[in-house]
Amino acid sequence: MTTFQTPRAGEKMISVEEAQERVLAEITVLGTENIVFTDALGRVLREDVPAPADVPQADNTAMDGYAVRADDIAKPPVRLKVIEDLPAGTVATRRVEPGTAIRIMTGALMPEGADTVAHVEITDAGVDVVTVKESLKRGTNLRKRGEDMRAGDIVLHAGTAVSAAEIGVLAGVQRSIVRVSRKPSVAILSTGDEIVDVDQPRPFGKVVNSNSYSLAALARETGAEPRMMGIVRDTREATIAAIESALESDFIISSGGVSVGAYDFVKDALDALGAETKFWQIAMKPGKPVVFSRLRGKIYFGLPGNPVSCMVSFLLFIAPALRKAMGQKRAILPPTVTTRLMGPLKSRGDRRNYLRVRVAARDGQLVSYPMSSQGSGVSTSMLQANGFAIVEQGVTSAAAGESIATVLVGAPFSD
Ligand code: AMP
Ligand code: MG
Repeated sequence: MTTFQTPRAGEKMISVEEAQERVLAEITVLGTENIVFTDALGRVLREDVPAPADVPQADNTAMDGYAVRADDIAKPPVRLKVIEDLPAGTVATRRVEPGTAIRIMTGALMPEGADTVAHVEITDAGVDVVTVKESLKRGTNLRKRGEDMRAGDIVLHAGTAVSAAEIGVLAGVQRSIVRVSRKPSVAILSTGDEIVDVDQPRPFGKVVNSNSYSLAALARETGAEPRMMGIVRDTREATIAAIESALESDFIISSGGVSVGAYDFVKDALDALGAETKFWQIAMKPGKPVVFSRLRGKIYFGLPGNPVSCMVSFLLFIAPALRKAMGQKRAILPPTVTTRLMGPLKSRGDRRNYLRVRVAARDGQLVSYPMSSQGSGVSTSMLQANGFAIVEQGVTSAAAGESIATVLVGAPFSD
């Protein structure tokens, strides 16, 4: 018969901030690969990207209308002879001399001699002769050369996470191949004799494996490549063998088996394999037991088995680690904002509590709606949760209307 696991001498519970610091201190940046820019969404750039040329290449018109000389339209209405028609992408063959105009479409380069664009709305839209009915300041309706990018300027910096705007700029500078971090591989194992997989029959008393799947989805959302390593039985030997078989990956995450239960073998297995365990208890709820170790150059996170604890600890500790490993320079930790609570919260007060909330914008302010259940085993309490309201240790409640520190793990909703 095995016995309950107990903390060893010198092992103390550390704060969330200290845990995050210790985790990030262990993370080194992964190698790179070159990929087609359209595949770079969600990846982290590992090179500075300069603009090869000015964008726009030359002054051009921001409006449909007529390229004119501001002096010519100083005393409206004036009639100007239209000497050429200039669709976007074409270059004028003639110069705008006093008394003339060139019809011009948005984006077309400014013809020589012209300094202003009379937008079509202030003209009679004439074809051979145009009447301009208002005067304009010189330079009106122009986009200046290099206004967007200057040749040689770094427009995208190494360490930037690539989203839609970055893809657009990569296209704009004709960068078809970009250097990004290779995706971190993340092995995912679920421990527990009670766990059966999704496609297996579920005898009475067994629990369906959901953690492997939520963790894999979180890993993918963060830009990593999950590797499903299956379910591990609650024996020391099986746990050792499973961890060993996962060591090809950059990161190993297990769920379950890190508590003080008689069948919690993850810590023992790590010790047996010679892992350097950096901490295993964090002063928080949910997710007090979180093992963090370095093992043969790889990073190991042992998360608690409760589905909510698992996700919360991933978002607070593992997602930042993955971002750092991918070379991301900013926004590594999830941001903390102040929200107005829309319902009461209760806490035991023994540890800092991260309570699931749905953060929304209401009347221009961030508000948070507490989830109806806050049990760490209630996986449905994570549905639509995009924030964790923090109730500090020693505090047992927070009332509706109070301002509360809230960790944002997703974009706020509109209310
Ligand atoms: P443990 O941390 O191993 O004591 O597990 C705590 C509880 O989490 C278990 O009793 C299960 O109900 C639940 N659990 C553990 N692993 C999983 C899993 N892979 N998927 C869903 N629930 C799990
Ligand atoms: Mg277990």
